[in-house]
Amino acid sequence: STFDQMGLKEDLLRGIYAYNFEKPSAIQQRAIMPVIRKRDVIAQAQSGTGKTATFSIGILQNIDTAVRETQALVLSPTRELAQQIQSVLLALGDYMNVQVHACIGGTTIAEDMRKLDYGQHVVSGTPGRVFDMIKRGHLRTRQLKMLVLDEADELLNQGFKEQIYDIYRLLPPSTQIVVVSATLPHEVLEMTTKFMTDPVRVLV
Ligand code: AMP
Repeated sequence: STFDQMGLKEDLLRGIYAYNFEKPSAIQQRAIMPVIRKRDVIAQAQSGTGKTATFSIGILQNIDTAVRETQALVLSPTRELAQQIQSVLLALGDYMNVQVHACIGGTTIAEDMRKLDYGQHVVSGTPGRVFDMIKRGHLRTRQLKMLVLDEADELLNQGFKEQIYDIYRLLPPSTQIVVVSATLPHEVLEMTTKFMTDPVRVLV
């Protein structure tokens, strides 16, 4: 299959081709459409498979850039990964006028608050700073439609379980959940059982 057959917005398709993607990888062929159709999705995939673009294309297709509120939140275990995800979203969304913020530790709180107050369609962050910004009322979750947990096994290994559960409790009950994980240990499966409804499973 091709990206053309996915019914994507013109400006998104243009961003995908400008980023030099010619055809979807295996995970993209199987997981992009369920994400766009707002299904909960568990993708068991390592880095290198094209996992980042999978959820990034899903996010960019489903957000409304005319609404300057956070509609998608991506949590990942490291600052570097959160920034890489931000870059991919900005590159694929280059023709979309999309605001994407990296909400990570090690940057000033004041700058984070200023950027969030301005309005960010997508936030890619680490759990600690994201929870802090939600609690302080700068990351507003009322318009949130999708939560992505990237490298979920690593998120749990690094002790973010409580913070992820705390964040999850502050999201609208209908929020779509996408989990990407290289492995599916008990704690990841437990989390998917608690958070997800009838998830689509994709193994690549
Ligand atoms: P990831 O699995 O997200 O770590 O991505 C691995 C690498 O594959 C990144 O360098 C991506 O830019 C690249 N990539 C992802 N999807 C595609 C695609 N459809 N065509 C070509 N390269 C891709």
